[in-house]
Amino acid sequence: MTKTALITGITGQDGAYLSKLLLDKNYQVIGLVRPDVEESLYGLGYLKILDRVVLRKCNLLDKTNIISILAEYKPVEIYNLAAQSSVGVSFEKPWDTINFNILSVLNILEAIKKVDKKIKFYQASSSDMFGNIDVLPVTERSIIHPSSPYGISKASAHWIAVNYRESYNLFICSGILFNHESYLRTPNFFVKKVILNGLEIKNGLRDAIHVGDIDLKRDFGYAPDYVQAMWLMLQQEVPKNYTICSGSSVSLKDILYYVFDKLEISKDKIIIDHNLFRPNDIHNIYGDNLKAKNELGWKYNKSFFEVLDLLLEEEHKYQSKTII
Ligand code: NDP
Repeated sequence: MTKTALITGITGQDGAYLSKLLLDKNYQVIGLVRPDVEESLYGLGYLKILDRVVLRKCNLLDKTNIISILAEYKPVEIYNLAAQSSVGVSFEKPWDTINFNILSVLNILEAIKKVDKKIKFYQASSSDMFGNIDVLPVTERSIIHPSSPYGISKASAHWIAVNYRESYNLFICSGILFNHESYLRTPNFFVKKVILNGLEIKNGLRDAIHVGDIDLKRDFGYAPDYVQAMWLMLQQEVPKNYTICSGSSVSLKDILYYVFDKLEISKDKIIIDHNLFRPNDIHNIYGDNLKAKNELGWKYNKSFFEVLDLLLEEEHKYQSKTII
């Protein structure tokens, strides 16, 4: 029998790749989109799956709205990906970020409790919950000490998820994902910005790239591989938390130099702009993916420079197609 999965945040990067993965596994996919703004269907269109998913408007801050959708579609799995996902934006809009990213989770879990306690739930947690942690690599048991409103919202949502698992015996997994990139990343995120700005400089459409603190180091991976881990978590006998990461960090400077070298652009085109520095930032972070590899059988061994090659290739391919 076809299983039904519900995805919040289906219009985002991970929502599109996860939809594709679930459709390929024969799920019926229901995607929840915001009721108040025109949804961006670009990612679903790009992966050619727009006509294979059912989209429903739903206000995740309204529990009754969620309850009626769960009762109508009877999903067996819910992947909760909707969130204000930018750390930078969270410093500009802390109230919106904290309000939505926390209360939406609480509402969905309350709705699950009311409609069907057997529904399995995946929460999109984040490495940003850990902030400037002293002990690396990060594991599922590392101390949580966020350094941004976004990190605070994700830490709070994470503990709500854990608390509902422990208090009500619900099947809830928290996937603590580190940065992961793809062609579908929006240009306000560093890697996509570097690739797009780099191509514009190369094509004479832009003079330079403005960047913030490029000495920061992050653990970056490839989104299509990371969404596999989300699905694997919900197929286990016992619900747990897992860190999903590559296992090593790379500096933003190394990423920028690698892309500019590939595009044969001079480093003179890089402008460090102190307006782009954040009030607080994580200097270096990377995680340990052994639990995910051993227990879930999740496979990942790409270096981030390999991922950058894939992203550059896909961007070139897409841009030459649209020029023709
Ligand atoms: P995106 O920013 O690409 O997508 C976010 C999704 O959430 C979009 O569908 C967006 O809808 C929706 N959304 C945002 N705000 C609201 C709101 N107020 N009401 C309803 N929907 C809203 O994120 P990703 O796909 O990259 O990430 C998926 C999840 O994983 C997020 O929760 C993110 O915080 C988390 N995460 C991501 C990491 C990464 O590196 N990508 C790392 C760790 C965690 P719309 O299209 O309408 O804006």
